[in-house]
Amino acid sequence: MTIEFIDLKAQYRHLKSHIDQRIHAVLEHGQYIMGPEVAELEGRLAGYLGVKHAIGVSDGTTALLIALMALDIKAGDEVITTPFSFIATTEVIALLGAVPVFVDIDPKTYNLDPALLEAAISPRTRAIMPVSLYGQCADYDAINAIAEKHGLPVIEDAAQSFGARYKQRASCNLTTIACTSFFPSKPLGCYGDGGACFTNNDALANRMRQIRIHGQDRRYHHPVLGLNGRLDTIQAAVLLAKLDTFDEELAARDRIAARYADLLGDLAPYVETWNRSVYAQYTVEVANRAEVQAALKAAGVPTAVHYPVPLHRQPVLAGLALPAGSFPLAEAAAERVMSLPMSPFLNEVDQHHVATSLLRALQR
Ligand SMILES: *Cc1c(COP(=O)(O)O)cnc(C)c1O
Repeated sequence: MTIEFIDLKAQYRHLKSHIDQRIHAVLEHGQYIMGPEVAELEGRLAGYLGVKHAIGVSDGTTALLIALMALDIKAGDEVITTPFSFIATTEVIALLGAVPVFVDIDPKTYNLDPALLEAAISPRTRAIMPVSLYGQCADYDAINAIAEKHGLPVIEDAAQSFGARYKQRASCNLTTIACTSFFPSKPLGCYGDGGACFTNNDALANRMRQIRIHGQDRRYHHPVLGLNGRLDTIQAAVLLAKLDTFDEELAARDRIAARYADLLGDLAPYVETWNRSVYAQYTVEVANRAEVQAALKAAGVPTAVHYPVPLHRQPVLAGLALPAGSFPLAEAAAERVMSLPMSPFLNEVDQHHVATSLLRALQR
């Protein structure tokens, strides 16, 4: 018995005719770059989230980079973020020559702890970039209140939280700018790289649209520094097909998470009462992780670790000189977290096998 970690093939089988039709329409009309599906998707995404502007881009990392560029983040500026995320969150700050300033996490949700945020603000702070990790929003009311007091913009790294809700409001519509990823295994994924930026601010939207196409405002005229950050038309077509049933998938994620919680009891991840997680990862904590992973592997259950090394301990950021112990809660989580198979297409038999194998490995 082998179980998929995220079952994308089952999703394709379910949506095949719709997806194939959408892709073929692009192959037929031939507008592979910025074809009509890109604008159609942007309209649909904006409507789905209730946000004014959606801007399709090439991937989630570029979405974050474009957001920082639109906010004019420059060398020497400080951007506050979490040490417990995928490297992309910090990479884009460093690429601009800016300095990532880390704030430790709330160990229950793994998201940036707002109680520690204000102490990290300095005269050089230019933005705050929290991550909504594993599909659960950070505490944006608390974060936004501190940001507002200091006149700072907030960027939600919503690469894992498209579709999540925070106090009845949509992830991707909670902050100055939000950025998501449509990498295949994200909650809403395409069949290659893809991403989007979101904002309610007209001037920032206009800037991000320009930056996405080499900083141009009209053809061969470039008022600002940009890059090639466009979303492929074919990927937009795939996303349009998948968006039609996305709410059904979210309902399935809820059902599967509830079933896991029943089976796993207090091992189940903590979700704040005001949050609806999309479970981009279904992540538990175990003490003897390597052994548990090996036992699960032997039982045909794949697992993954998101993430084994906190960002301040990554060799590429050695220049920041942040020794072990700098962010103890992120470091402790990195030693213990382990993600289980999760997707809207995880069937009950397989899920039961995952849970019983885990409980057996833990001798519970
Ligand atoms: C996936 C991810 C990204 C990067 O998205 P890509 O589309 O792979 O570039 C950024 N931040 C977080 C938290 C992610 O999980």
